[in-house]
Amino acid sequence: MGAAYGQADRGISPERVRVWRSTRRCPGGSRCGYPQRVRRALITGITGQDGQYLAEFLHAKNYEVFGLIKGQNNPRIDLITAELPFVELVSADLQDLSSLVAALEQVQPDEVYNLGAISFVALSFKQAELTANVTGLGVLRLLEAIRMVGGSSGNPIRFYQASSSEMFGKVRETPQTEQTPFYPRSPYGCAKVFGHDITVNYRDSYDLFACSGILFNHESPRRGIEFVTRKVTNAVARIKLGLQETLVLGDLEPRRDWGFAGDYVHAMWLMLQQDKPADYVVATGQTHSVRDFVDAAFRHAGLDDWERFVTQDPRFFRPAEVDLLVGDASKAHTELGWKPQVDFESLVSMMVDHDLRIEAKKAGIEVP
Ligand code: NAP
Repeated sequence: MGAAYGQADRGISPERVRVWRSTRRCPGGSRCGYPQRVRRALITGITGQDGQYLAEFLHAKNYEVFGLIKGQNNPRIDLITAELPFVELVSADLQDLSSLVAALEQVQPDEVYNLGAISFVALSFKQAELTANVTGLGVLRLLEAIRMVGGSSGNPIRFYQASSSEMFGKVRETPQTEQTPFYPRSPYGCAKVFGHDITVNYRDSYDLFACSGILFNHESPRRGIEFVTRKVTNAVARIKLGLQETLVLGDLEPRRDWGFAGDYVHAMWLMLQQDKPADYVVATGQTHSVRDFVDAAFRHAGLDDWERFVTQDPRFFRPAEVDLLVGDASKAHTELGWKPQVDFESLVSMMVDHDLRIEAKKAGIEVP
């Protein structure tokens, strides 16, 4: 392993594991005299948008945070070690069951958050088999690994699956709830339906504490540049700075329920703190079109006549589109006490401001 890897990759000492096991069995909680064990979380998808926010959130709650990293020379290791130095990286891949078993044996986590996926819908049309393997079968492999490492009775590992509103696809009702039937419209959506169903099945069959969060779109300055929201805010920043002339987009009419990723990782954690495992829709309940997003982003940058900068290209249209996603998060409000904090306009402004800063810095320009 390279020098960038943390302590976890070099192995946890048997003594540390022994302390963990003895405190786990401690019946008297904080009054029994045993040291209270620091909780451990293992996050797959640590290099992604949500993995980074979740790692910061759990670190602030005094967890030991472990991040699963795939590949022998993953280019995003440097980003994680620079931005999240407290995360210990563990080498494994959602396509490789034995590597997942080894990672769980090494970390002995209390909570596992499965955020790893091929998550870009457009790519899933081009690499459908890979998407099914990572985004779908990867969930099954991780659940199997949890069963193998955590044992068959009283398994102590709590599991979170990152399900998606894309499972609703050609929506059967509006707004969508935990009871709305699925009708996925992409290989990504199909793979997520499998991941969701197998999570529920393992909970029912093996009494695992396994939850599925059906999260609607959530964005942030950490969103990958391939996603339409970040593509827009980055282009707006560059146009404002005179570094780019046009923004080429696909369909402007699809409507999404957009929230802030930092709010949504809080809901993930809350799900694993309940007495009983369950599934929850996490959404703002507000819907906006891509056109609304583009309009808000240009307006925030002081460019009101945005139509002259934007062109459309059919190459960016999806083969099968999801028209109207809007979630009803009443169950999460009532049972988890969760509410989103950042509204649509603030989210767009946050992303544009961030892109203005980084693009100006790269170009050596002062932010206007
Ligand atoms: P993201 O930024 O695209 O991150 C995806 C992560 O998956 C990356 O860290 C990637 O690692 C990892 N990954 C890919 N292939 C893997 C493999 N074979 N083994 C292990 N890890 C692998 O996604 P995100 O926006 O943070 O979303 C997190 C999760 O929530 C995903 O499952 C996504 O599908 C789901 N979700 C997201 C949204 C949303 O709006 N953001 C909504 C609903 C559900 P590398 O960097 O090494 O490739």
